[in-house]
Amino acid sequence: MPSDLFKDVLNSLTCTTLFCLEPIGVGTYYVESLASYLCRLAHSHSIYVGTLMTDIAPLLGNSLVASLKRGSSRLYERPGLFIGHNDFTLKLVNALEYLTGRKDLIYLTLLSWRHLIDIKGILKEVRSWCPICFAEWQRKKEPLYEPLIWALKFISVCPVHQCRLLSFCAVCKRTQPLLTRTTRPGYCAICKSPLWKETNADEVRAKIDDYDNWVLKNIMALLAQTPLLKHILLQKIVMDNLTAYIRSFPDASSFASASGIPHCTATRWVRGESFSSFYHLLQICYVTETPLMKLFNKGSLNHRDRLKPPPIRTQPIRTRNEFDGTRVRKHLEDHLSADVNSQITMNRVSQTLGISKKTLYLHFPELCRRIAEQAAKRRREVSQARLEQECLFVEKVCRQLHLADVYPSFESVEAACPRKAILRAKEVKTAWHRTMKQLGLWTNQTQEEV
Ligand SMILES: [Zn+2]
Ligand SMILES: [Zn+2]
Repeated sequence: MPSDLFKDVLNSLTCTTLFCLEPIGVGTYYVESLASYLCRLAHSHSIYVGTLMTDIAPLLGNSLVASLKRGSSRLYERPGLFIGHNDFTLKLVNALEYLTGRKDLIYLTLLSWRHLIDIKGILKEVRSWCPICFAEWQRKKEPLYEPLIWALKFISVCPVHQCRLLSFCAVCKRTQPLLTRTTRPGYCAICKSPLWKETNADEVRAKIDDYDNWVLKNIMALLAQTPLLKHILLQKIVMDNLTAYIRSFPDASSFASASGIPHCTATRWVRGESFSSFYHLLQICYVTETPLMKLFNKGSLNHRDRLKPPPIRTQPIRTRNEFDGTRVRKHLEDHLSADVNSQITMNRVSQTLGISKKTLYLHFPELCRRIAEQAAKRRREVSQARLEQECLFVEKVCRQLHLADVYPSFESVEAACPRKAILRAKEVKTAWHRTMKQLGLWTNQTQEEV
């Protein structure tokens, strides 16, 4: 049952109750992601995602309401919040299900896997897409959407066309977060150009090795079966299967050398000290030639004398983009000259380009240093300006309370200010002291007593 707060907020939203938009592909490997669903839902109401999120923010927790109302973009830089497995994702799913009347939005996220396997770090930091899928849906006049599978780090090729997924817009040459306030499926969030491209899939078919192909097929099966999983019980079955399997070897070292799983990881599994990571789970299944879905059945991992050689690469596949020095230099120079008031940090620049900060500093140390200094200087200026405004505001509040015959104590001034703990800042507290003295309510003696 929804809480009272939830009901109150809902009552205030009665005129904005949302369409019962059906998510695409639930129960298939091409199930839509919640980020894509949010975009389509917003579009069906002729509003941007940012507006939709601001409208439903009261259902998502207090700290986010303020952040969303301020127009902060930071929330949108974390894909895990929208399609991952944390508490915010759960609140978002609950809110959307309540407002749309749907009961299946949880399958558009990784929430169903969170009690099953350790899925930390399996989401890409940037949006990626198949231009041929978009082109096909566009041609058939089907809705454009973005499947959850495109957002997983393990997946570098389209499951349908076997071409590499793209993460750079062909027009503006930039990467983008999974979701922004104005994202629409099928369109670049930065330059708004279409992301589809009519191409013969046979001509762009990517070569993928045996392990990548195996991972792709097993993740497709897992996504399709997710609505059927009863996860609370399955976690124990998976761990029991792994433990029994490791114990079938003479010792943990021989298991580690046969499977490629680190010795310490195997020991922790046997002791029940850690949960199996998705990377290692896939690897165990690969070397034992056991389909991932079978691991959720009791006693499915049988000892074999010969295992398949472990894959050389066990970490998720990085999006393969050549380092284009000319393009990167131009981006950094444009960034510096475009907006002297920019507060954008090097972390954000690195995310936008899809290139690590370390690599950027290695190739262009001077430009990176200037961008970082510019952002730090601007942040200091903004912070100083805000402090000055808050000093003036506190002075005004003191005088108004005094005029209304209310003693402008620390608590009453803070209660009258919109920002919590405003008087904790030394400068603002000094402004309050100064005003109290000017009003004759505060003497040096009082100050000493306090
Ligand atoms: Zn495709
Ligand atoms: Zn673009």
